[in-house]
Parts: sequence; C-alpha cells; structure tokens
Amino acid sequence: MENDELLIQFRNREIIGKIIRKIREESKNLGRIKIMHVCGTHEWTITHFGIRSLLPENIEVIAGPGCPVCVTPASEIDALAELSLRNNVIITTFGDIFRVPGVKTSLIEAKSMGGDIRIVYSMLESIEIAKKENKKIVHFSIGFETTAPTTAIEILKGPPKNFSVFVTHKLIPPAMEFLLKTGPRIDGFICPGHVSTIIGVRPYRKIAEKYKKPMCIAGFEPLDVIIGILNIIEQIKEGTYYVYNEYSRAVKEEGNIIALDTLDKVFDIKDSWWRGIGLIENSGLKLKKEYEEYDAIKIFDINIKPIDHMPEGCRCGDVLKGIISPNECPLFGKICNPNHPIGPCMVSFEGSCSIAYKYGKNIT
Ligand code: SF4
Repeated sequence: MENDELLIQFRNREIIGKIIRKIREESKNLGRIKIMHVCGTHEWTITHFGIRSLLPENIEVIAGPGCPVCVTPASEIDALAELSLRNNVIITTFGDIFRVPGVKTSLIEAKSMGGDIRIVYSMLESIEIAKKENKKIVHFSIGFETTAPTTAIEILKGPPKNFSVFVTHKLIPPAMEFLLKTGPRIDGFICPGHVSTIIGVRPYRKIAEKYKKPMCIAGFEPLDVIIGILNIIEQIKEGTYYVYNEYSRAVKEEGNIIALDTLDKVFDIKDSWWRGIGLIENSGLKLKKEYEEYDAIKIFDINIKPIDHMPEGCRCGDVLKGIISPNECPLFGKICNPNHPIGPCMVSFEGSCSIAYKYGKNIT
C-alpha cells in the first residue's frame, strides 16, 4: 500500500467511529479508567485530533513524562550555561532546550551574556564544528532510547579530541515503573511507539506482569491510538494484563538489535534525576569508562547538584506525573504561553502544555 493510502486508512472516520462505539460499549460499567501514555507525539495526536472528546466520560487518557527536554534537570541546564561562558568552550544543543529555564539561568540567557551556544540538528553537525574549531565542543545529548543510539554510534566512530558529550539520556520503562509505584493510579499504559522501535516489547512485559497492568504499544495515527485505548479497555474488562503490539509495522518483539548492541557498548545504566519527578533508579545512561575521554562531566569536572526545581507557580511536575492536565495549572494560557513560557512543558514542542495551548481547541 502506498504511504498516502495508508495514511487515509489510519485516519478513516468511519473505522474510527466504529472503534469509538466499541470503546463506549466495552467501557460501560467499568468505573473510572485512567490510561497514561509517555510520548510527546502521542500527546500531539490525541490533542490535535480531539481524541479525548470522543471518549466516554469514564475513560481518561493522561500524558506522562514523554518529553525528554521537559524532564532534563534544571541544574544540568545551569551547568551547561556556566560552561558556555568559558573562553575556550562551545556548547551545541538541539533548539528545544534553548529557552528552558534552569535554576539560575537558561541557555538563551547565557548566550546573551556572551556564551558560545549553537543550535544543531544532529550530533554529527556538532562534530563537524569540532573539526573546524580550536575550541572545546560540548554537545548536550538529550533524549530517550530513540536518540541515545545516535550518540552511541558517533562515540564509537571516535570523534575529534576537542569534542565531548554531556550525556543526559533517559530510559522510559524505569519511569513507567516509578510512576506505577509512586504516582496517581494508572490502569494501563499506551507505550511509546518511537522508543519501542528500539527496545521492542520485552521491557514492558516485565512491568505489565509485575504490576498487573495492561499495556499497548501504539503508532501515531488516530486509529493507532484509539485501537490502543480499546485494547487496554478490553484487557481491563477481561481481567488480563499483557503487552499488545499494535505498532507491529515498526516494532519488533526484540527491538532493534543493532541499536541495542550499540547502546550496550557505549553506555552504562545509572540512576537519573527527572525534572519534576525525582530520582529514578536505573533510568539514565552514562558513558562507559573506556569512553570517558569524550565525557564532558569528567573532562570539566562538572558537579551536578541533585535538586529538583521548577519556576515559581509552575506545575510541570504534576503535569509530567499525570496528576493534573495543563489547563489545570493556574498559569496556563494566562502568564504562561509559548511566547512567554514559564516552565519546560510550555517551551518544548513535545511538552504537554505547549501542545494543549496550540492544539487544545482543535478537533479535525
Ligand atoms: S502552564 Fe506553564 S507554568 Fe503551568 S505547568 Fe505548564 S509550563 Fe508550567
């Protein structure tokens, strides 16, 4: 099937209508059900296509920590901002984190104070800068399992000696488990499609069995998401808990073995701070000892203070934990909007507050 044809099928109103009717039927008498997803793109699909408005009242789909920029600790932003002010250092980063406030400052403020901070679209671009410059280049490597393999591949290739990475990659399954242990009640998970193309089905299976929670790996079209919701509701109704792979056109049981092998070669797993959420065991990556010549944290002896900080009045922590939806934050749309963002969830295009502000009223 051609791509366009496939897209039309995945947005077919008639099919979607049938599944929504099935969701209504199956969820009758189930009481209140809370389904969490942990992916910025899922949140975009759900909000942009008005999926929440189609669901019965007792079915709530909430967003969890699906935006890597939003969960990057404020103290790490401060550390990079400080580093950028040194004479011989250039920081490279993706555009999304540029305006996110740290505790003391943001990268954009550091740039206005003279810091050499450059926005790049890939780590490769950063390495190209390193080849041309005599200064030390530090790349701020942010992202979940989806982007971490790119960092790993470039490290394995052996970048120039004046290049290093500040690694803040995070892992999604430990965060899901953390929320099940500590967060508000969650009855099932829509598992992230992109992350799952790398890690496959197995990591979720352990969590589904341990916590007896239904899970569904879903793609990003409206039909994918509502099939995911229906599957979770059916599992709840039947009293079962397994991982259904709705996105089998992209996600294999074993994941991407080459990418996983590359991650294993380059990174060790460590406990990691998630902004607004806290310290999550085994949820982050750090460079292995044999690659510490590229580790900015070691090279510059950076000491990150483990503090969790949000701007005053900002409730991003509660948004990221699925305790409130963005419009329940008193600042939403008032003093906080994409032109004047207060917290990280309004800065990043994958942040729930930014998505709610831009697309929350759209039903297409
Ligand atoms: S609306 Fe703004 S202040 Fe409120 S939680 Fe979202 S980012 Fe934070």
